[in-house]
Amino acid sequence: MSPTDAIRAVLRNHQRFVISGHVNPDGDAIGSCMGLALALAKMGKEPIVVLEDFPKKFRIVPGEDFIWKKPHDELTAEVFVALDCADVKRLGTAKALFDRMPVTVCVDHHGTNDGFAQYNLIDPDASSTSEMVYNLFAPLVDIDPDIATAIYAGMVTDTGGFRYQATCETTLSNAIRMIETGIPFTEIYNELMHRHSFLSSKALGVVIANAKQALKGRIVYSSVTRQDLAAVGATPNNLDRTAEYLMCTRGAEVALFVYERETAPEVKISLRSHHFHVGRFAARWGGGGHQLAAGCTVVTPLEEILPILLEELEKEL
Ligand code: 5GP
Ligand code: MN
Repeated sequence: MSPTDAIRAVLRNHQRFVISGHVNPDGDAIGSCMGLALALAKMGKEPIVVLEDFPKKFRIVPGEDFIWKKPHDELTAEVFVALDCADVKRLGTAKALFDRMPVTVCVDHHGTNDGFAQYNLIDPDASSTSEMVYNLFAPLVDIDPDIATAIYAGMVTDTGGFRYQATCETTLSNAIRMIETGIPFTEIYNELMHRHSFLSSKALGVVIANAKQALKGRIVYSSVTRQDLAAVGATPNNLDRTAEYLMCTRGAEVALFVYERETAPEVKISLRSHHFHVGRFAARWGGGGHQLAAGCTVVTPLEEILPILLEELEKEL
C-alpha cells in the first residue's frame, strides 16, 4: 500500500486525532492543522489541535475551537498527526504527546525530514504541507469554505503568494478549487502577505539599515539585536518575512538574517537562497528546512556566530 493510501486508511479507521505542527507556527503549519481538523470533523471524527500561540493575522484561519487549551496530560486520542514538522524535536511540548500515542502519522514537505512517525508522507517537491493534506482528504470529504480558507492560507504562505519555484500548475489548480468554494481569496492573500503592523515596518527599517553585502553582492545579510529593535519600540515578534525581503535584492544568491530572540541567549538564523542548499547548511547548526528556505536556533552570541556563518557561506558559494 502506498503511504497515501495507508494514511487515508488511518484517517478512515480511527475516531480521535490529535494534530500538531512545528513550534513558532507559520501559515502552513496552522493551515494544514486546521484544514485537516475541519475535514475530520466533517467526517464525524473528533480532532484536537495542539499548537503554540501564533501571530494575530493567522486568526483569519478558522478552527480556533479545535485548539486544546488544557494541560497536555489530560489529552487522550488514538492517532497523532504531525504536520509541516521537519523533525520530531520541532513539535516542542507536543513531543510528549507524540511519544505516548499508539498510532503516529507525519505529513511534511521538508527535505530534511527523516520520517519520524509510523506512517510518513514526505514530499520535498510539494510547495506546502497544506496542499499535501488537501490531496490526502480530498477523496474522503467535500470541502467547504472553512476547509478551503485554511488550506488556501497555508498555500499562500508557503509559496510566498504563489511566487516561489515550488509553485506549479497543480498548486494553482488546487488553489482554484479553494477559490471556487466562494472564499474571500484576495482578502486572505492581502491579510497574510501585504498587511503588517506599524512596528513591523519600523523593525524592517532596522533590518535594512543594518544590511550588508559580501562576495560582491552574492550574499546579502543583516543582523539585529534586541537593543536595535527596542530603539524603534519594536521586539523580535515584529520581525516578519524579513529574510524574504533581503532575498529580493538583485544579484543576491543567499540571504542570511540573524537576530536575538526575545528569550536570551537564543539567536535565530534564517536563510534564503535561489540555488544553494540552505537546508543542509542549517542542519550543521542543528536546524534544517528546505533547499531554498531554512533556519536554525543557536545559543552562541550574535557577534560570534555571524562571522562564522559568513565565512562558511563564502567558502561554499
Ligand atoms: P524561517 O527562517 O522562516 O524560520 O524558516 C524557514 C524554513 O526552515 C521553514 O520551512 C522552517 O520550517 C524551517 N526551519 C526553521 N528553523 C528550523 C529549525 O530549527 N529546524 C528545522 N528542521 N527546520 C527549521
Ligand atoms: Mn511548510
